[in-house]
Amino acid sequence: MTSKPARPARSGDADLIVIGGGIYGVMLAFEAGRAGRRALVLERGQIGDATTANWFRILHGGFRYLQSLDIVRTRESAAERRWFLDFAPDLVQPFPFLMPLYGDGLKRPSFLRMAFLLESVLTAGRNRGLRPESRIAPGRTLSVEETAALYADVRREGLQGAALWQDAVAFDDRALMNRLRHAAESLGAVFEEQTPVLDLQVSGDRVSGVIVGGPRSGPRTAPLVINAAGPWSGEIAERFGAPAPELFRPTLAFNLLIDRPPLAATGLAVAGPSPGAPMLFLLPLEGRTFAGTWHVEWQAEDREARVAEADVDAFLQALAQAAPALGATRGDVLGILPGLQPLAKGSRTAVCDRPLTIDHGRKGGPRGLISVSGVKYTTARHVAQQVVAGLPDPADC
Ligand SMILES: Cc1cc2nc3c(=O)[nH]c(=O)nc-3n(C[C@H](O)[C@H](O)[C@H](O)COP(=O)(O)OP(=O)(O)OC[C@H]3O[C@@H](n4cnc5c(N)ncnc54)[C@H](O)[C@@H]3O)c2cc1C
Repeated sequence: MTSKPARPARSGDADLIVIGGGIYGVMLAFEAGRAGRRALVLERGQIGDATTANWFRILHGGFRYLQSLDIVRTRESAAERRWFLDFAPDLVQPFPFLMPLYGDGLKRPSFLRMAFLLESVLTAGRNRGLRPESRIAPGRTLSVEETAALYADVRREGLQGAALWQDAVAFDDRALMNRLRHAAESLGAVFEEQTPVLDLQVSGDRVSGVIVGGPRSGPRTAPLVINAAGPWSGEIAERFGAPAPELFRPTLAFNLLIDRPPLAATGLAVAGPSPGAPMLFLLPLEGRTFAGTWHVEWQAEDREARVAEADVDAFLQALAQAAPALGATRGDVLGILPGLQPLAKGSRTAVCDRPLTIDHGRKGGPRGLISVSGVKYTTARHVAQQVVAGLPDPADC
């Protein structure tokens, strides 16, 4: 692998075409550039305007994966969080989160203390090379009094204290996407917006490019095509004669921007008192509250994420249970930020926990066509790195 900038890709001389300019498409272009390959990214709308515009802004360090003892994922996430903190220290910052503990199940203070200890051992390199203000402090537990000092409206009945940890947050995620795009461009990538990919061009059994619509309609040639169209990746593969039913079965998720002042200066991870109540996150955002993430079964055939009023009401009801002091009503909702995510097998709403990469040439489809479906913004670069490392040598294309 080399970091030498590649010549910018023009139509006709790209080494690879990436369909979709969400975080996965941008990271694929960036990693391709780092490997000395010129990527042409074709986006039917604007870069970062679909699912990627509506994420919750947390670059997860992977602490949550310790619950299922998923050590690989814990480490991967911590390493990617470190990368973002290093790449854009002015846009990605450590931010504290507080979770009140009521002593049930895995939410006991003693369990959390053990989990924080395990995390600090497993992610020992999480701050390697970072400047002091970008370093993630170790998680710890708080007494009841310390908890109430940070979150005055905390439900007191049964309270045993809280867990306090840091994750990385990108409050200005639009600026972060622009930074990533420019980094990819400086490595030779070219981005075309308002450029929907309509069809695949094949020569023999090999990919030779795509046909695009839009103002600059026509062919774009390259020996490799990576389908990173997120929720639309399945229908694109099918249109290209490479059906893959396992590619992106959707589940709906959404966040709410609420015109209510934050309940704490930290982020909050809160759940209602009834058993099995969902864990919800509250993030202070420009004096308001950003609440996430609510999951809903997706029953429609299309892939345009939209939210029913009944689902907004259900989310507000869960918030009223989890954080009554927020007092959020429908009239306080300033924005509904939805997106489709890949559904976990055997579930109605859970998000799949692994990315999926399909080399269609190995499954009887055109050679040189690859589909990628990721599950997290946080790990998009890692997935892109793996995909680029697995691409055939340019000489073999
Ligand atoms: C509500 C919500 C909260 C989330 N919160 C977090 C979080 O806090 N942290 C985290 O790490 N992850 C989070 N995620 C996950 C993360 O947002 C996604 O994994 C990521 O944004 C997916 O990016 P993508 O590039 O695969 O898809 P997209 O962003 O959807 O990009 C796909 C692109 O393909 C384009 N496209 C489609 N068809 C064509 C075509 N024919 N031609 C050209 N272009 C085409 C689309 O216009 C789109 O821009 C969240 C997701 C949701 C929905």
